[in-house]
Amino acid sequence: MQSETGAYYPEQPKTDLMVRQIELRPVILLRSCFRCGKEFRREEGERICPSCRAPKRPKKLSPRLSFREKQIIDLICQAKLNKEIAYDLHLTEGTIKEYLNRLFRKLQISNRTELAVWALTHQMHQVDECA
Ligand SMILES: [Zn+2]
Repeated sequence: MQSETGAYYPEQPKTDLMVRQIELRPVILLRSCFRCGKEFRREEGERICPSCRAPKRPKKLSPRLSFREKQIIDLICQAKLNKEIAYDLHLTEGTIKEYLNRLFRKLQISNRTELAVWALTHQMHQVDECA
């Protein structure tokens, strides 16, 4: 039984040939999207469909913070005490504490040091970056 020696064309060369044909012909072909699997008209070697290629709504890296929360974070980064922050923002110390607790929960952190680190990691100070 030597029939197995006749198997010169297993899967691979066949696939290879198909790929080569696609590459040789710069025509519009239907392809399934590399990302979502949807069929689309392939142009210029695109592997993903137009809808996957289109810029998505920017992912929010950070939770939405209010202007006041940002102000407080900023002051925390300046190593200010609650009392000082309260003074700067014309709020009571109690209000500052409330804001901080809300921020801690929102950002899943437990103290002001972590808050400062969070702010630095999330590029809160984009304006100062040019320095
Ligand atoms: Zn797609």
